[in-house]
Amino acid sequence: MAKQEEVFKKVISHAKEYGYVFQSSEIYDGLSAVYDYGQNGAELKKNIREYWWNAMVHLNENIVGLDSAIFMHPTTWKASGHVDAFNDPLIDNKDSKKRYRADVLVEDHVAKIEAKIDKEVQKAAKRFGESFDKEQFLTTNARVLGYREKADTIIKRLTRSLEDENLADVRSLIEELEIVCPLSGSKNWTDVKQFNLMFGTQLGASAESAMDLYLRPETAQGIFVNFLNVQKTGRLKIPFGIAQVGKAFRNEIVARQFIFRMREFEQMEMQFFIKPGSQKEWYEYWKEKRMKWHLSLGLGDDNYRFHDHDKLAHYADAAADIEFRFPFGFKELEGIHSRTDFDLANHQKYSGKKLQYFDTDLNESYVPYVVETSIGLDRMFLAVFSKSLVEEELENGSTRTLLKIPAILAPTKAAVLPLVKKDGLPEIAHRIVEDLKWNYNVIYDEKDAIGRRYRRQDAVGTPFCITVDHQTKDDQTVTLRYRDSMDQKRIPLSEVNRTLTSELDMRKWLQKIG
Ligand code: ATP
Repeated sequence: MAKQEEVFKKVISHAKEYGYVFQSSEIYDGLSAVYDYGQNGAELKKNIREYWWNAMVHLNENIVGLDSAIFMHPTTWKASGHVDAFNDPLIDNKDSKKRYRADVLVEDHVAKIEAKIDKEVQKAAKRFGESFDKEQFLTTNARVLGYREKADTIIKRLTRSLEDENLADVRSLIEELEIVCPLSGSKNWTDVKQFNLMFGTQLGASAESAMDLYLRPETAQGIFVNFLNVQKTGRLKIPFGIAQVGKAFRNEIVARQFIFRMREFEQMEMQFFIKPGSQKEWYEYWKEKRMKWHLSLGLGDDNYRFHDHDKLAHYADAAADIEFRFPFGFKELEGIHSRTDFDLANHQKYSGKKLQYFDTDLNESYVPYVVETSIGLDRMFLAVFSKSLVEEELENGSTRTLLKIPAILAPTKAAVLPLVKKDGLPEIAHRIVEDLKWNYNVIYDEKDAIGRRYRRQDAVGTPFCITVDHQTKDDQTVTLRYRDSMDQKRIPLSEVNRTLTSELDMRKWLQKIG
């Protein structure tokens, strides 16, 4: 098995084994691309949500929250362009009967060419050692330039064909590149067809009066239709933002990458309303700000990169992804889009209601422009979880499985462990839990030898263990053990709460984003 695949399999099985993620309706053999979060997953998800919400809503005086309904008036989706344009180009392989996104097949082919460039860079870096100049190599090496041109030509053609809705050419491209079905290995493809990703449902009891609805495919539109409600009641002045976290639904076709691409998922979106003409500046501002948010978690700076879009969505005048190094390669984690006045202007047109802002500085009304930041909560979960899972070799030759989740996001902050189940140690440990539980999710564990308990907490991602032993009774101290370094130190019982407060101070973490 390829190494990447093996790592990804480990991530999925660890997530299940430790109560993070379960297949939905597993006892009925599951529902494809739908997942449930277990006891630890629910906590991690909540903590990521909070980390985002605090950074957005609490730390920015001009950003407020919203919680809009999943159901929306069906005209919303006409106005937003989703009824006409929220499609994926699909292609079937006639031998395996598997369905693929045609654009993804081509993009995966290009990713392979780009991997060849990376290989050349690695080889050259080894050969030249310290004197290696990567920039120069990338711009002068003939082989690299050849690969680069090939990749760019393919992407340009794909972009043009999709923009022109020339699906026949997308198919020709797949044929010319000799792309084979990963399952059957054959090149026996159908034509490319468009497929709308929205789930439909009905509102109302009788067939005659029922209204066709969609489950929202993004949370953003709930923000746009409430733009004036929030602006007026909050007396907000531009620039200001509205943030929301909530479920979104997409009938995804390629849904084979665990919680990376789900049919029911959660988005964390913020729409920032600005003066027309200032969008470039705010777009750059939010790109930088969001990248800093990611880096503040310390999962490794080189695991992130920007990808500027060549092919822009129907609503955008600039767009970039923050990509993350998932176990299956660099993929989109978050999108930052300059949406112009597309959404508000269209809602104004379709609803017949004015959605304008009166700018008291300019003494004029206008439809604001919008810069959006949009991240999938589940994708962020996968980023954190997959990067945190490591197998570590210890000095004594044994290995330990470690889930190095950033402490601020960890489901359980501390495990309180009496060394033995007697001599009054459990009572002291219970008292510590009683004290800490008001501020933190902590657990008590007395089963098995202490070493095994430490390993269990390492594997489930608990950053701190607090051990009560016989010495505790004499001098009122406990052992504090750190998950990542395995360092242990004795601290007074009276210091336990304060130590956790200092380690888990949201300020310490979020200060890094400025
Ligand atoms: P992709 O190209 O991967 O389909 P997208 O460009 O359609 O994503 P957006 O519409 O920009 O995604 O949505 C914003 C964010 O929502 C994405 O960056 C991603 O984190 C998340 N997201 C989108 N679709 C899914 C999904 N099916 N499952 C989980 N998260 C998703």
